[in-house]
Amino acid sequence: SGALKVKEALVKELQKNGLDNEIRLIETGCVGPCNLGPLMIIYPEGVFYQRVTVEDAQEIVEEHLLKGRVVDRLLYQPSEDERRKFIQEIDFFKKQVKIALRNSGFINPLNIEEYIARDGYQALAKVLSSMTPEEVIEEVKKSGLRGRGGAGFPTGLKWEFTRKSPGDEKYVICNADEGDPGAFMDRSILEGDPHSVLEAMAIAGYAIGASQGYVYVRAEYPLAVERLQHAIEQAREYGLLGENIMGTGFNFDIEIRIGAGAFVCGEETALIASVEGKRGMPRPKPPFPASEGLWGKPTLINNVETYANIPPIILNGADWFRAIGTEGSKGTKVFALAGDIQNTGLVEVPMGITLGDIVYDLGGGVRGGKKLKAVQIGGPSGGCIPREYLNVEIDYDSLKELGAIMGSGGLIVMDEDTCMVDLARFFLEFVQDESCGKCTPCRIGTKRMLEILQRITNGEGREGDIELLEDLAKQIKATALCGLGQTAPNPVLSTLRYFRDEYEAHIREKR
Ligand code: SF4
Repeated sequence: SGALKVKEALVKELQKNGLDNEIRLIETGCVGPCNLGPLMIIYPEGVFYQRVTVEDAQEIVEEHLLKGRVVDRLLYQPSEDERRKFIQEIDFFKKQVKIALRNSGFINPLNIEEYIARDGYQALAKVLSSMTPEEVIEEVKKSGLRGRGGAGFPTGLKWEFTRKSPGDEKYVICNADEGDPGAFMDRSILEGDPHSVLEAMAIAGYAIGASQGYVYVRAEYPLAVERLQHAIEQAREYGLLGENIMGTGFNFDIEIRIGAGAFVCGEETALIASVEGKRGMPRPKPPFPASEGLWGKPTLINNVETYANIPPIILNGADWFRAIGTEGSKGTKVFALAGDIQNTGLVEVPMGITLGDIVYDLGGGVRGGKKLKAVQIGGPSGGCIPREYLNVEIDYDSLKELGAIMGSGGLIVMDEDTCMVDLARFFLEFVQDESCGKCTPCRIGTKRMLEILQRITNGEGREGDIELLEDLAKQIKATALCGLGQTAPNPVLSTLRYFRDEYEAHIREKR
C-alpha cells in the first residue's frame, strides 16, 4: 500500500530538518490492521497514524516531530465525532495478547540486536546454561502448548516422542508452507520476527538431540525467505547458530528449503518428501515423523506459530503460559481476519475469547452495516459457524463440536448476502485442484462432490443430490490417505449442517 515510498519521503524530511541523527525511523513487520496501512507509530508515546501518504511526510516531521503538535487528520477515527490518539486506545489492539506476535510490528526484523534487546536468544541461553533436554521438554509439556498448524497435537509430547526415538541423527523442521486461502499468520511472523522461530528451533534441537534444522517455506513468500535468510546469517555471525553455540559445545544450524507451490506439502510427510528432493506426496502414517522422518531419521515438525511461542514459555515458565486460555487450550491463537469485516488483518487473542468479540470488538463488525451470516474458520479443512454461536468460547474442542476446526487460523467473515453453497463450492474447488492424486477417495471423490455442487449452483440440482453429497463426504473423510482429503469435505458438511435450506432452495428453484 505504498509504505516504502512513505518511508523514503520521511527519510528525506528527517534529513532536511536535521533530525536524522536524533530520530530513528524503523521499518517493521506487520502491525496487524491491514486496512489502515501504511501505518506509522511515534514512540515513546505511541501516537498512531493511519493511511499515511507520501504527501503527509512533511507535515508529520514539521508539525509533530519539530513542534510536538499531533496531526489530527491522520489519527484513527472509529466514529464520526471520535478520534483515538494512541495505539493503546484502539479497540483492535485492546483485547489482544501478543505472545507469538510480540515483536512483529515493533522491531526491525533485519536487525538481530533489536530482537536481542527484547529478550531475544535469552531463552536459548537459559536452556543451554541451566536446563537438561528433559527439563526443556517437561516445561513445554507442562505449558499445555498445542500445535498451531491445524491438528492441535500437544507440542511437548511430540518433542518427547522424537527425543525418545532411537537414532543418533535427528532433525528439526519448521513448517512454513502456509497455504490456506485467506491465511497469513506465519508469513507475518517470518517477515516481522524471524529470529523468534530460529531461536525456538535451536531450543528444539537441543531438546530432542538434533544439530540440523530446516525451514520449509512456500515460494510465494519471497520477503519471508529473504528475511529468514538474513536472520540465519546474522545469528551465525553472533554465534547463535552453527558450531559451539554460546561456547557451550552445542551445535545447531538451519537451512531454508523452498516449496514449489503445492498445498499438499503442508502435510508433514509430503513436506519431508519435498525436502528430500522427491515429489511432495503424503505417505501412510505410522510410522510418524517422530520415529521415521527426514531421510528415515526421527524428525520434529512444528509450524511457525508453534515455534514462536517457545522462547516466551521457556523464559516466563509454563505456569505463566498455562494461566492464559481455557482448560484444554492454553495460550493464544493468531487469526487472520478477512472477508466482509471492517478491520481486516492479523490479531492474536487468548484462547477462550468468543467469536463475537473477535468479529465485533476487534474486527469492528461486518462491513457496510450488513448482518453477519457466518464465519468460516480453518480454511478448506475447516467449517462454517453461523451467527447463533457468536457467544461460544473459541478453543480446539469447542470448534470441533461445532463442526469446524481451529486450523491454522484463517477466519473469513461472511455477510447476509453470501451464498453458503457457493462458499462450499469455492473451498471444494480449491482442494480438488490441490489433491495430489495419490489415493482414490480424494482424487475421484472430491471431483464427484464438486460436480454435484456445480450442478446445484448452476440450477441443475437433482433430487437425491444432497444425500449423495453427504454420503460421499463421509466416505472420503473415513478413507482418504492424508489430512487434505480427510478434511476436504468439512466445508460442505458444515454448510449442510447449518444451511441445508440453501442447498434445498437451489434444487427447488431450478432455473
Ligand atoms: Fe493426495 Fe488427497 Fe490422498 Fe492426500 S488425500 S494423499 S492429497 S490424493
